[in-house]
Amino acid sequence: MMMRDLTQVVHHPQVSEQGFASLAVPVYRASTIIFDSAQAYADRKDRGPDGYSYGLHGTPTTKMLEAQLSALEQADHSVILPSGQAAIAILFLTICQAGDEVLIPDNAYPAVRGFCEDYMAPRGIGHRIYDPMIGAGIGDMIGPSTRLIWTESPGSTSMEVGDLPAIAGAARVRGVLTGCDNTWATPLLFKPLTIGIDVAMEALTKYVGGHSDLLLGSLSLRDRSWYERIRSTMRMLGIGVSPEDCALALRGIETMGVRIGHIGRISTDFAHRLQSMPAVAKVLHPALPDCSGHDHWKRDFAGASGVFSIVLEPGCDGALDTALGDLRVFAIGASWGGSRSLIAPMSLDRARTVTPWLHEGRLLRISIGLEDPADLWDDLSRLLTSLVPAGSGG
Ligand SMILES: *Cc1c(COP(=O)(O)O)cnc(C)c1O
Repeated sequence: MMMRDLTQVVHHPQVSEQGFASLAVPVYRASTIIFDSAQAYADRKDRGPDGYSYGLHGTPTTKMLEAQLSALEQADHSVILPSGQAAIAILFLTICQAGDEVLIPDNAYPAVRGFCEDYMAPRGIGHRIYDPMIGAGIGDMIGPSTRLIWTESPGSTSMEVGDLPAIAGAARVRGVLTGCDNTWATPLLFKPLTIGIDVAMEALTKYVGGHSDLLLGSLSLRDRSWYERIRSTMRMLGIGVSPEDCALALRGIETMGVRIGHIGRISTDFAHRLQSMPAVAKVLHPALPDCSGHDHWKRDFAGASGVFSIVLEPGCDGALDTALGDLRVFAIGASWGGSRSLIAPMSLDRARTVTPWLHEGRLLRISIGLEDPADLWDDLSRLLTSLVPAGSGG
C-alpha cells in the first residue's frame, strides 16, 4: 500500500543492518513498546521484570548497562536509578516498612542520614547510627526490627575502612540484609557481593560517568526476590532513566580501568607527600598505614581511587577561603570522579553523632582528576604553603 505523506512521515523506512557491525553502544529510546498481537499486549505482564513492556522500565541500552554492572559486581541482577541517592532511597524504601529500622554508619554520605531523619522517620521507619569501625560488634546492635545494615567504605570524607566481611557475617547469621555504598572503590577495586554483602550500590555519577556530566545510580544483587521487589518499587514510583545517560555510562566504564589506575597512583603518591607539609595535621587516605581500617583496605580492596582528605592545622583556617580562590588547576566543588581535579572544604564536627570527630582544623576533600600531576602538585603545594602563617617556622 502506498502511504500518503502524513502517514509516511510517522513510519520509519526499513533499512538494512546487514554488514553493520559497530563497537559503539546503540542508544535505544522508547516510551511505547509495540506488540505483535492483541494477545501479546494482553499478556505483557507475563514478560516479567526483565522483559520489555514500557520504555520507563528499560530499553536494550538500559539492559546493557545493567548486564555490564552485574558482570563487574558478580551479581545476578542490577537496576539503574536516576542518581546514587535515588538508588539508596529506593533500596531503603523497598526493604523497610513502618516499624522497621536500618543501621547506618556515622560516616555515611550525608544525604543518607538526611533521608533517614527527614523522610523515613516521619513515616515510622527508624534508624540508628553505628561506629564505622564496629566490625562484628554490629551483631549486638541488631534488634527485632532491624531489616538492613547500610555500609559505606571508605566512609565519605573521613575515609575509615570498615570490616565489611565481619559486618556481613554478623548480619547474615541474624537474617538481616546488608548493603554497601561502593562509590569510592567502584567494582574494579572492591566487589561487595564477594565478601557477603547482599546489595552493592554505586553512584555511577562519579567514576563510571567519569566526566561530570551525568547522574545515575545502581543497585546490584544476587537475590531474585529482592530484585523483583526493587523493580516493583521503581514501577510504582514511576522511576526510570534516560538511555542516553546509560550509553554514556557504558562508555565511561570502558575507560574506567585506566582512569582509576592513574588517579589511584597519584592520590597515593600525593597522600604520602602531603603528610610532611606544615599546614597538614593529618592525611586521610586508606593507603596510609595510619588510616583507620588500613588493614581492611589492604585485605579487601585491589587498590585506591582518587578521593581522599586532609585535615588542616587549626591555625590555617583563617587564610583558607582566600587561598582556595587562588587555585589555578583544582576547581572548588563536590561530586567528584570526573576529569577535573576538585577540592571541597568541609567540616565534620557536627556531622558525627556516635563517634566524635576529634580534629579541630578544617578538612579539604580532594578528588584527583586527569590533569598533569606536576601541575596538580604545584597548585596543591602552593595552596598549603600559603596557609601557614608567616614566621610560624614550619
Ligand atoms: C555522590 C555520592 C552519592 C550520591 O550520588 P548522586 O548520584 O550524586 O546522587 C552517594 N554516595 C557517595 C559515596 C557519593 O560520593
